[in-house]
Amino acid sequence: MIATLLVGMLCVYLLSFAVMFLLIGRRLGAGKMGMDAFAVGNLALGIAYVLQLLEGPAGWSWMGVVNHSLTLCALLAYSVGGLRFFGRQAPLLWPLAALALGYALVQITVEWALGPVARYVVLAAMCALCFAGMVVVLLAGLRTFARDLRGEVLLFATLISGICVLNVLKLVKLLAGGLPALGMDDQFQVVFYVYMCSLATVIPPFIVWVVLRRLTDKLRDMAARDPLTQLLNRRGLTEALDARLRRPNAGARLLLIDVDHFKHVNDRYGHHAGDAVLCAIVDVLRGAVGTDDLLCRMGGEEFAAVCPGADAATALRLAEHIRIAVASTVLLQVAGEAVRCTVTVGISRCFDDDASLVGAMQDADAALYRGKNAGRNRVEWGDATARVPAGGEGALGAQSAVEC
Ligand code: GH3
Ligand code: MG
Ligand code: MG
Repeated sequence: MIATLLVGMLCVYLLSFAVMFLLIGRRLGAGKMGMDAFAVGNLALGIAYVLQLLEGPAGWSWMGVVNHSLTLCALLAYSVGGLRFFGRQAPLLWPLAALALGYALVQITVEWALGPVARYVVLAAMCALCFAGMVVVLLAGLRTFARDLRGEVLLFATLISGICVLNVLKLVKLLAGGLPALGMDDQFQVVFYVYMCSLATVIPPFIVWVVLRRLTDKLRDMAARDPLTQLLNRRGLTEALDARLRRPNAGARLLLIDVDHFKHVNDRYGHHAGDAVLCAIVDVLRGAVGTDDLLCRMGGEEFAAVCPGADAATALRLAEHIRIAVASTVLLQVAGEAVRCTVTVGISRCFDDDASLVGAMQDADAALYRGKNAGRNRVEWGDATARVPAGGEGALGAQSAVEC
C-alpha cells in the first residue's frame, strides 16, 4: 500500500516537473540548456510509473513492455539533457524512437528465451549500468566541462550513485527471489520508492538552480564584454582591475590605443569591413600583450591595455610593440586590396587603485590627444615631464622620469 502511494506521488512529481522543464525550456528560447530533454525524460518516466500502477503485479503484459522501454528512454533523455546543458549537440527524438523499439524487441526475445524474471533482471542491469555511466562521466567532467559547477556535480553524482546501488540490489534480489521480490509490500520496494520520490523532489529544483547559475554567469559575462570583439568593456575592466589591484604592490599602467583615421576605413570599405578590421586589430593586440595584462574595448575604435606591475620601460616597450605590430599587419583583404591601419598610443602614469584609474584614463587620453595632434602613429606619455621620441623612432631606448 505504502509503495503504491509512493509510486502515485512519484507520477505527480515527475509529470508536474516535466511541465515545468518544458516551460523553462520555452522561456530560454534557442539555448534551452537541455530543459526540453529533461522534460521528455520526466514525461517518459512519469508515464512508465503510471503504467506500473495500472498493470498491477509484475509479469508479462504490453503495459509492462512499454513501461520498461519508457524507463530506459527516460535515462537516455536525461543523458541528452545533461549533454545539452554542458553545451554539446546531441539528437533526442530518433535515438529515443530507436531505443524504445529496439528495447521492446529485446524484451520480447528475453521473455521468450529466458522467462519473465530475466526481463526484469535485464532492466535492473541496464538501469544500474546507465546510472554508473552517468556518475563516471560527471566525475570525469569535474576537471573539464563541469569545472565551474564542482559542488553541484558532486552532489548530483552522489544522488545518482544511490539509485545505481539500489538497482544493483534489486537485480540481486530478483536473481535470488524471482518476481515476488518486486511485490509492492516488500520492504526493499518501499525503500526504493522512498529514494526515488526523494530524488524526484530534490533534483528538479536543483536543476533549476544550476540553470539559474549558468544564466546569471552568462548575463554577468555579457554585461562585462563587448559583443563584437569579446574583449572586456569598460565595466568589465573596472571589475577585473578591482580584483588585480587588491594584490599588494600591484601598481599598473594604462595604454590607450586609438586607431588612426578609422572613419576612412568605414567610408571606403563599408561598416562590415570596418568591423572585420577592428577584430583583426584586436587579434594583433591579443598577441602583443602579456598573459597578466587586461585588454578592453573602451568604445568605438579605442582600446585599452592595463599592465599590472609594468614599469615605465616595460609599458613603453609594449606600446611600441603594439604600434609597430598593427602598422605592419595586413588587417583585411578587400577585392585584392590590403587594408592596413596605424594606431596612436597614450601611456598613463602608474596607478594603484580604482579611484586613480579615472585619473590614469584622463592621463592616457591627454597623451593620445597630443599624439593625434603630432601626426598619429605615435606613442606619447601621459606624464608631461616624460619624453617619447616622435613616430616611435628609438622609442625602445626612451626612459620616463616616472617609475612604477
Ligand atoms: P582619429 O585618427 O582622429 O582617431 O580619426 P578616426 O576617424 O579614427 O576617429 P573618429 O572619432 O572621427 O571616428 C571613429 C569612427 O569609428 C567613426 C565610427 O563610425 C567608427 N566606429 C566606431 N565604432 C565602430 C564599430 O563598432 N564598427 C565600425 N565599423 N566602425 C566603428
Ligand atoms: Mg580613431
Ligand atoms: Mg576614437
